[in-house]
Amino acid sequence: MKEIPVGILGATGMVGQQYVHLLADHPWFRVAYVAASPQSAGKKYKDALRSGWIVAGEIPSDVAKLVVQDVADVERAKAECAFVFSAFEMPDKDMIRKLEEVYAAADIPVFSNASAHRGTEDVPMLIPEINAHHLDIIPQQQKARGWKKGFIVVKPNCSIQSYIAPIHALLQKGYDIKRIVVTTMQAVSGAGYPGVSSWDVIDNVIPYIGGEEEKTQSEPYKILGHVKGGQIIPWEGINISATCTRVPVSDGHTAIISLEFGKKKPRRDTILNIWKSFRGEPQKLDLPFAPKQPIHYRNEDDRPQPKRDRDTDKGMAVIAGRLRECPVLDYRFVALSHNTVRGAAGGGILNAELAFKKGYLDI
Ligand code: NAP
Repeated sequence: MKEIPVGILGATGMVGQQYVHLLADHPWFRVAYVAASPQSAGKKYKDALRSGWIVAGEIPSDVAKLVVQDVADVERAKAECAFVFSAFEMPDKDMIRKLEEVYAAADIPVFSNASAHRGTEDVPMLIPEINAHHLDIIPQQQKARGWKKGFIVVKPNCSIQSYIAPIHALLQKGYDIKRIVVTTMQAVSGAGYPGVSSWDVIDNVIPYIGGEEEKTQSEPYKILGHVKGGQIIPWEGINISATCTRVPVSDGHTAIISLEFGKKKPRRDTILNIWKSFRGEPQKLDLPFAPKQPIHYRNEDDRPQPKRDRDTDKGMAVIAGRLRECPVLDYRFVALSHNTVRGAAGGGILNAELAFKKGYLDI
């Protein structure tokens, strides 16, 4: 198969660099285009990294010598790549939303990590193991906006990535979950680079991340929703109470979850079997970035741990542990996922693989 040239918007940032790193040996996609702020435009990629290369390994040599373009130069992107991964920041979310729309209108599909379009009713917010079918809305999105080949797909906030797959697996088997109380312990890489100052976070836990609890509570509703009449109708069958904290961990968001079932409460071994056997569309399609097993369970009392478990299944799996009865709700457990891999660049790549395999990329 001929490699597909792809672009990365915000390629110099924390998530952008993770894209460059993860795509280095991709069997289908090749990084052909990198873009960032006007301050970086015109420089070679390796020279534009103001804080250096901050992810694993070395800068892939073919990307190091690419000249960084201005994110606003949509025509140039159109000439050089088939679609883009969007991971750029701007002072105002509205500017990101509008620029992503300009790309889509210019026939360039956008796979976004930004939150700007997560609330847009006809934009799918994908965790492909859960709601791959939300891609069905793309023809309606294109028709409503007069776009021909372009479209926008987003991925959710990294904070929900660790707990929503185990919850969905149980719902899918007919176990009605009524209430969830979740506390997240989120890695510093989730705030970009340099992010939180070392003075603030070392020897500390920060009990507030602006806007994070709202996203953690609301985004699952859209993901668990259904497509009807050109919109994604949210499913609000669960009450979610979230507290989001920042902890001195480099990568890997941990969530501590207590949950309450409706009429039917499964046995502990039933839950473990459901999680172990859970598979979704990426596994059926054998997508290159799909974890072989989306939910791994660790039996040790002191796992999962970010340092030891975040790279499980290429950093694309959820790792659960400590499932036990809860004296207040029904069960409680701990879950972990890699925030800059599954929760950011790896998740974006999986979305693009799914769209390609499903025939939504006109290549
Ligand atoms: P970051 O490290 O701060 O990188 C920001 C990127 O945006 C850089 O490439 C930067 O280019 C570019 N940029 C900044 N100002 C710009 C402007 N005015 N015009 C055009 N480009 C501009 O941020 P990040 O952590 O990679 O996050 C990127 C996006 O992914 C955000 O929307 C974030 O919410 C989302 N996200 C992050 C994570 C995570 O774990 N970090 C997880 C999920 C989603 P220069 O280098 O030229 O300034």
